[in-house]
Amino acid sequence: MRSVLLAITDELRRLKASGVKTISVSDASLATLRHTIAARKIADGGPESVPASPQIAALRPLSPSPDSHALRAPASPPVRLLPPPPDVVLPAGDKAVRWNALREQVLGHPVCKAHVRPGKKVVFGVGNLDARIMFVGEAPGAEEELQGEPFVGPAGQLLTKMIKAMGLERSDVYIGNIMNWRPELPAQADGSQVGNREPTPEEMAFCLPFITAQIEVISPVAIVALGATAARGLLGPQSFRTLGEVRGRWHDYRGRPLRVTYHPSYLLRKEVDGLAAARRAKRTAWEDFLAVMERTGLSISDKQRNYFL
Ligand code: URA
Repeated sequence: MRSVLLAITDELRRLKASGVKTISVSDASLATLRHTIAARKIADGGPESVPASPQIAALRPLSPSPDSHALRAPASPPVRLLPPPPDVVLPAGDKAVRWNALREQVLGHPVCKAHVRPGKKVVFGVGNLDARIMFVGEAPGAEEELQGEPFVGPAGQLLTKMIKAMGLERSDVYIGNIMNWRPELPAQADGSQVGNREPTPEEMAFCLPFITAQIEVISPVAIVALGATAARGLLGPQSFRTLGEVRGRWHDYRGRPLRVTYHPSYLLRKEVDGLAAARRAKRTAWEDFLAVMERTGLSISDKQRNYFL
């Protein structure tokens, strides 16, 4: 195996030296390569998740084409090889027992822990275990990985305001993320990370069983996917192209109603287009929130119906 990997690496080096900047690799070949290397590292006694060699780390999509990947100069996200998604086993018991066991599994998972920088935290869901509404976001950001809680930064503050506008408190609902760690970008000189990036499909696939298990434990009446990444995580990677195709109507997530709406970060970013544009986007999102209120049996006042109009 080692000789095969060395041969591939040598070939990649040779191509790079001869000026080749991109090569096509099918998804299937890439997945095989990643899993083979991950399996070898584990068999060698190495960590479950290890930094890829620069050549392998540089294999990333060249274009939106669903089946090709490209070799680029090793630049942005440091890619780690991930083992196959974990099997989550919930113990027998009431919600609190199952939730606590799940939380311990996630916070203590070696792969999750390997992805957080020193002083930062793996982030698990929070809220009411009997919540009728469950919000699912994308991934922790700077504030969230510091505090170990989802949606506590600027986007979280807007989400909290919208929950209050529904006549609820944060403690009435449950809030989780597709990802349990902040997707990494190269560190600054002081070791910190500036900015966020979307999780890769592999990262999402790895963390998915954890949010799926939280949905199972909480058993909400309705799920709200905040933004396209959360929606793709729950509805499937190929389920839509643009958010507009899936928001504004109900979907089925394993027998539960799921509503897709804008991510609060998008609503915040919209403010650069002016107050009127931001207000229109908030109204659109609010209409999804009203639908969720109706579906979960919350009463709606005339004032609430007219927010952001
Ligand atoms: N954005 C998310 O999607 N999740 C968080 O927890 C914070 C910001």
